[in-house]
Amino acid sequence: PGKETQITDDPVKNFEKWKRKYNKTKKIVKRVQKTTKKRDWEVERENIQKLVKKYSEINPKEAVKFSDFPLSKKTLKGLLEAQYRQPTEIQRQTIGFTLQGRDVLGAAKTGSGKTLAFLIPILECLYREQWTAMDGLGALIISPTRELAYQTYEVLRKVGKNHEFSAGLVIGGKDLKDESEKIHRTNIVICTPGRLLQHMDETATFHASNLHMLVLDEADRILDMGFTDTLNAIVENLPTTRQTLLFSATQTRSVRDLARLSLKNPEYVWVHEQAKFSTPATLEQNYVVCELHQKVNMLFSFMRSHLKKKIIVFFACCKEVQYLFRVFCRLRPGISILALHGKQQQMKRVEVYNDFVHKTSAVLFATDIAARGLDFPAVNWVLQFDCPEDANTYIHRVGRTARYKEGGEALLVLLPSEENGMIAQLQEKKVPINKIKVNPEKLVCVQQKLDAFLAQEKEQKERAQRCFVSYLRSVYLMKNKDVFDVFQLKLPEYAMSLGLAVAPRVRFLNKAQQQKSGVAQDDSGAAGRVSEDELKSFTAQLKGECSKSQSSQSEEEEEDDDDEEKESLKPAALLCGFNEEDEDDQKDLDLLTVKRKDVFNINEESQDDENKKQKESKFTDAKKMQKKNFKVNTKKIFTEDGEVVQQWPPLQRAVVPDEEEDEETSGINMEAAKERLRKEDQEFDKIEYRRKIKEKHRVRLTEVVAYLSGADEEFDPSTLPDPDKVCNSESSEEEEGHSSDRGGKKRSFSSEDDDSDDEVQQTQVGRKKPRKESTATPLDTGLSLAEDEELVLHLLGSHS
Ligand code: ADP
Ligand code: MG
Repeated sequence: PGKETQITDDPVKNFEKWKRKYNKTKKIVKRVQKTTKKRDWEVERENIQKLVKKYSEINPKEAVKFSDFPLSKKTLKGLLEAQYRQPTEIQRQTIGFTLQGRDVLGAAKTGSGKTLAFLIPILECLYREQWTAMDGLGALIISPTRELAYQTYEVLRKVGKNHEFSAGLVIGGKDLKDESEKIHRTNIVICTPGRLLQHMDETATFHASNLHMLVLDEADRILDMGFTDTLNAIVENLPTTRQTLLFSATQTRSVRDLARLSLKNPEYVWVHEQAKFSTPATLEQNYVVCELHQKVNMLFSFMRSHLKKKIIVFFACCKEVQYLFRVFCRLRPGISILALHGKQQQMKRVEVYNDFVHKTSAVLFATDIAARGLDFPAVNWVLQFDCPEDANTYIHRVGRTARYKEGGEALLVLLPSEENGMIAQLQEKKVPINKIKVNPEKLVCVQQKLDAFLAQEKEQKERAQRCFVSYLRSVYLMKNKDVFDVFQLKLPEYAMSLGLAVAPRVRFLNKAQQQKSGVAQDDSGAAGRVSEDELKSFTAQLKGECSKSQSSQSEEEEEDDDDEEKESLKPAALLCGFNEEDEDDQKDLDLLTVKRKDVFNINEESQDDENKKQKESKFTDAKKMQKKNFKVNTKKIFTEDGEVVQQWPPLQRAVVPDEEEDEETSGINMEAAKERLRKEDQEFDKIEYRRKIKEKHRVRLTEVVAYLSGADEEFDPSTLPDPDKVCNSESSEEEEGHSSDRGGKKRSFSSEDDDSDDEVQQTQVGRKKPRKESTATPLDTGLSLAEDEELVLHLLGSHS
């Protein structure tokens, strides 16, 4: 046994000996590592000191390359890897001031590189401070829309990938709790104002007391009315020692705005102040005057003649985008159509955004959420289907094309009543725009097709009605009455152009009209002119009605104009896809070339006539069909009275081509309409709805914080909820026209949807998607029980 013990003891002793040696070596290695690290750090500090010393010697005039500026190696490497070698004018002129810690107001035309002008100083600032995760929030970038925030985030990941800072995207439509868990470790936050404030209010661990830099991208928009309270509240939470940078193509000059941000002796950098024009030189701009009821034909004709182009079409409101997107998909114009607006679920928004980024030819129907900052590559055309709110909005919309030395074309469609007012504004803002003519006879008429679609599908008809009302509301709420006069619009013709047989009754307009005529009677001298006060009171009432339906409102919802939105002046966007190849593109390409003055004057007379005849006979057929269907629909109203009456009591009745309708009970009840939609959603797809709700609880947002260091070119999609899982139903239920070639990577912020009205977009004709809020709330027709009964009896009486 003694022998045995000796034998077994030896290896143990040996092992212990070896272990002691190993630990000793390990300690030495650690010590060496530590000292080396320290040395690295010291080297870095010396580098920083060297760079800072050069700050006072910066001479922008002599700087040609980014490396001519005292920038860190990490930033320079990031810039080079992203193919940025020479600074643009705004970058060249602001970089010195921003590095020196000055507050800067930067203004330069759209597409001139303002993003890097604030991202570079942010990286340099945090690098100088040797910022770490422990230091928390160091820089804050505020963006007016989620898409722009996302885009900026992507650029930051690209140019900042050699730094070790963490960057986070804090935008609405995502899970707040998940963001909350990460936000306190995030060094650079890119956010939309509402969401940021929400964190300031609700996330205990989030504080901004260490903040070094605040950036307002699209500063004038962030500072304007829609965000006033939110921004003031945010600024209250920020240390006054911070550096503040403001960038926009239409920069604010309001002293009050600057006071709100307590800028310290800011440096004004107006790159194009002396420029002859305020829009890019490579942008060709034209406008056409078109009657309201011809606009749909006009758009279709335009699309048919630009099948190989990448086009953005701006509309005044979401409902217009929603309706026209659907019908245009069905019209099969031969080019992919996408739609982007603020009523879409966040996932959809990102999907559409990325889709459009990757397309070479497609049409994006959008509201003004796509108007600012978005840098879609190679957009050929910007078509403004509806008149922009003001010249600034015009400048930002057209700025989606002709970016960074590229060319682009813009076409503005104006109503006869809008022409003088709008063109005067544009001239004042130094926008070079020419009038071109449209020959109405050359327009492709799609009205009979729309008639037929609407006759077949009740839902489509309801969308058309909502589009009609929404558009009128948006015009009515516009501040500039020299340009926007809702009373000049020819409503029956407009309704017809949307495929509606009868113009829906618009309660607010009727009231306004009554007041207007009342005023006219009282004061015969001012006949036809409604007083400012009257209009104001109506507008306030209208806005009040709209805002009632809003519960938790984020900044984008404010921006997204829609029926349910109080800020109807600021529209939003939607994206869905559709693709159809067309063989005879070329013919139509010649047909409409807006660049030429005789754009719509083409020589294919005979063929046109033939088409027209064909269309006319089809039109008659469609009309007949429509008539038949109307009767059927009317019957449905009686048997399913709850369903029909509840959604559009006024509209439904107004649309039914029956003159004996009960006038008294007509009116718009948006709440009721929403309720009905929700109910319908459930009816249509209860299982899908439940699945979606489950997903909502299961899926967690994971990409909120990204570490810049080592970031790959592409956002790692595996860190995100599986879009297929989450929106499988969505894409599978996409309109028949949804692009089949959508090869673009589908990235997403999250499937979470915590904004009450960020609803799932319905992208399939005749089928509705469940909304997140759909609950079995009692249906409300917006009428009293007695009125309901009276209406039903009346309708029954007139049809039985
Ligand atoms: P703005 O904010 O002024 O509208 P962006 O920052 O979005 O413009 O930049 C417009 C385009 O110009 C982007 O595609 C961007 O990649 C490109 N760009 C910006 N700076 C440079 C540069 N220094 N060199 C080359 N391209 C640049
Ligand atoms: Mg920008």
